[in-house]
Amino acid sequence: MNKELLRRLPQIDEVLRLNALRSAADRWGHDLAAAHVRSAIDDLRRDILAGGEPDVSPDAVAQSCVRALERGQRPSLRRVINATGVVLHTNLGRAPLCEEAAQAAADVARRYNTLEYDAAAGRRGSRYSHVDGLLCSLLGCESAMVVNNNAAAVLLVLSTLVRGREAVVSRGELVEIGGSFRVPEIMEMSGGILREVGTTNKTHPQDYVSAIGEQTAAILKVHTSNYRILGFAEEVSAAELVGLAHEHGLPMLYDLGSGALCDPQRTGLGDEPTVLQAMASGADVVCFSGDKLLGGPQAGIIAGKKQYIDQMKKNPLTRALRIDKMTLAALEATLRVYQDSEKPYAHIPILEMLSLPEEVLRGRAEDLCARLKGAGVSCQCVPEGGQVGGGSVPTRLLPTYCAAIDDKRVSAAVLDERLRGRDVPIVGRIAHDRLLLDMRTLLPGDIDELAAAVTEVFAQ
Ligand SMILES: *Cc1c(COP(=O)(O)O)cnc(C)c1O
Repeated sequence: MNKELLRRLPQIDEVLRLNALRSAADRWGHDLAAAHVRSAIDDLRRDILAGGEPDVSPDAVAQSCVRALERGQRPSLRRVINATGVVLHTNLGRAPLCEEAAQAAADVARRYNTLEYDAAAGRRGSRYSHVDGLLCSLLGCESAMVVNNNAAAVLLVLSTLVRGREAVVSRGELVEIGGSFRVPEIMEMSGGILREVGTTNKTHPQDYVSAIGEQTAAILKVHTSNYRILGFAEEVSAAELVGLAHEHGLPMLYDLGSGALCDPQRTGLGDEPTVLQAMASGADVVCFSGDKLLGGPQAGIIAGKKQYIDQMKKNPLTRALRIDKMTLAALEATLRVYQDSEKPYAHIPILEMLSLPEEVLRGRAEDLCARLKGAGVSCQCVPEGGQVGGGSVPTRLLPTYCAAIDDKRVSAAVLDERLRGRDVPIVGRIAHDRLLLDMRTLLPGDIDELAAAVTEVFAQ
């Protein structure tokens, strides 16, 4: 044990008097600064008692305290730069909002608002009134409502229309979405009974018809948004299911999942069914997410026949699943962008990303590589296949370009860790010992930050 080092440990006040800690105390308060100094000195003492020989100079203690204070004050939920190329990255917050939506949410957050107030009539209004007219005109439905997310929407639909009775579902559509949303389990939670028909790869109209009986409350179709059954496979189309359901006096319920309101051709989404197609099939109730292909905030949108939506609004579960004011403001603003058929492709970030031409992506990668090479970092512009993500359109690879950093001075794993450790973490992906930074998912300004951050790592 090093008695000399123990003796040289600085006093708390001595460290607090240093300039670095005075300004830290001004920013975060004296108590927090003092607590950090105390715990830093305690750590040093323990280290010395264990045989270590740490730097015990007051300056070194001050530096480590300021670093710890800064890290501790950094918000846990904070911005990241998505350089993964996965457009709807569930871990990175799915769809970034358009400017209009972010502004609307911020305005409503700061002030009182008309959440449940009819200003013209001077009396209580409905939370749902802000978007149901917009949804009806955009989707061509009789009525609509919104809840917290699409998992909540499915739960509410089943709890209202199936509870205590059966819904007929194809075995090919018993979907699991990440984070424990599974059709059989949601059905159980709702109090409804799942009546599975057909097989994994093939379900025929007759399979549904044979299952319909006294107990049947509905036919449910679930879009297999995060997987595809290919090869010797057959499913019954939404329009056919509507025909079957109506012949038996039943509603056809359709969990569409991703909820594309855009043109799938323009956005590289291939044969992804759109909300308009689902409505056109005649489905009685359609539900989908607000933050998948719609590109809005987390929400569950339920659209369809008024008689069914009215029943849902009266379900006590609705209160537990309700959407909050900031989300509602962001959703309304997002839907307003869709009122102009061209505007979404230039305003909704994920639609812009999905429709970026390859030349633009290559141009970005070349620009970033040129800047990094200028700073002496070895880097190549490479073509790659990116993903839509968020469990959407799983079989499609979107052609993209990446900056591949292959500078041997810092391994890909260490570079990745340093970039993730920043105040604004940078998330890329490692392939073949290189760090790939995908250009598709970058937002304005991100390239400058990437160039500066990577340069900084190699300058250390
Ligand atoms: C994503 C998805 C859900 C869940 O939606 P959230 O908005 O994530 O709650 C439900 N059903 C299907 C088919 C989905 O794709």
